[in-house]
Amino acid sequence: MAVARDFRIRVTPEMHHAMGNGPGDPVVAQFVPTAAERITRPEERTDPIGDRVHSPVPGLTHRYPDRVILHVTQTCDVYCRFCFRRETVGADGPLSPAALTEALAYIAATPAVREVILTGGDPMTLSPRRLNALMGDLAAIPHLDVIRLHSRVPVVAPQRITAEMTAALARHPATFVVVHTNHAQELTAAAREALARLAQAGIPLLSQSVLLKGINDDADTLATLFRTLTAARVKPYYLHHCDLARGTGHFRTTIAAGQALMAALRGRLSGIAIPTYVLDIPGGYGKVPVTADHITPTGTPGLYRVRDWQGGLHDYADPTAS
Ligand SMILES: *Cc1c(COP(=O)(O)O)cnc(C)c1O
Ligand code: SF4
Repeated sequence: MAVARDFRIRVTPEMHHAMGNGPGDPVVAQFVPTAAERITRPEERTDPIGDRVHSPVPGLTHRYPDRVILHVTQTCDVYCRFCFRRETVGADGPLSPAALTEALAYIAATPAVREVILTGGDPMTLSPRRLNALMGDLAAIPHLDVIRLHSRVPVVAPQRITAEMTAALARHPATFVVVHTNHAQELTAAAREALARLAQAGIPLLSQSVLLKGINDDADTLATLFRTLTAARVKPYYLHHCDLARGTGHFRTTIAAGQALMAALRGRLSGIAIPTYVLDIPGGYGKVPVTADHITPTGTPGLYRVRDWQGGLHDYADPTAS
């Protein structure tokens, strides 16, 4: 198909197994390309979230003072049709040893950095041996409080979550794994077992999802996804508004639609199952919450109008000046 020339295609046996029938299936739609990908809209970009805007050394993005993103590999086990890094994923394998050394030197020399976020591509496509060496290097940097991995692997390639893999991750005492998943249909029995192995190894689990038109943009689908994750000991962390990557317009909802969905989830779903709905501001300005507005200022300073989960309106006043 012509889109294969523009963007890479790959799917794992586990996700093949999770697919239902037809293009409307939520797993099929995430991995099987359609002609709609060839349409680029004027607002779409090759670097939608500005990874390249704040890159002090190759492979590193340092946008916020206390945390950096380390792009350890550009490989993924699956290539998602809506990927925000679709221009770079699959172009290359792991970061070269020289670039990795330089990135680690930058982190070691920058004590303001408290957290390293391993991403890519997908960091958990690295071999356990390579991850073990990297985690050892990171654990030796005293000012790092937290190591975080963002990965689709536990869901799309659960057999990779071996004892060697969990032991490598656990080399730092505060390693968090943020699992990327968008629909409960992806959370197969094998995927849920892989999540259990990570939880059993003492690794806190969070999730991030992308709001995708036709895949998960209704309250029932999101509620089922977030409930299934919570039951698997994964705290829903972020629901991303779909970024402005080229050829992804058919997946993008409006902000108002996303906010209405978040408002519908409040009250229906346990608070621990509700993620923050975020927009990554195009151009590298960072993420901001766009979760439903429940509180609005009135004409009177210090006085607000608050909307509860059933739509009831209430007044709220700040402390009065004394
Ligand atoms: C998303 C992102 C982070 C992490 O942000 P959190 O809100 O801490 O999850 C860090 N750096 C960059 C460049 C990012 O894009
Ligand atoms: S796994 Fe993540 S980085 Fe890789 S293609 Fe999917 S969204 Fe992009």
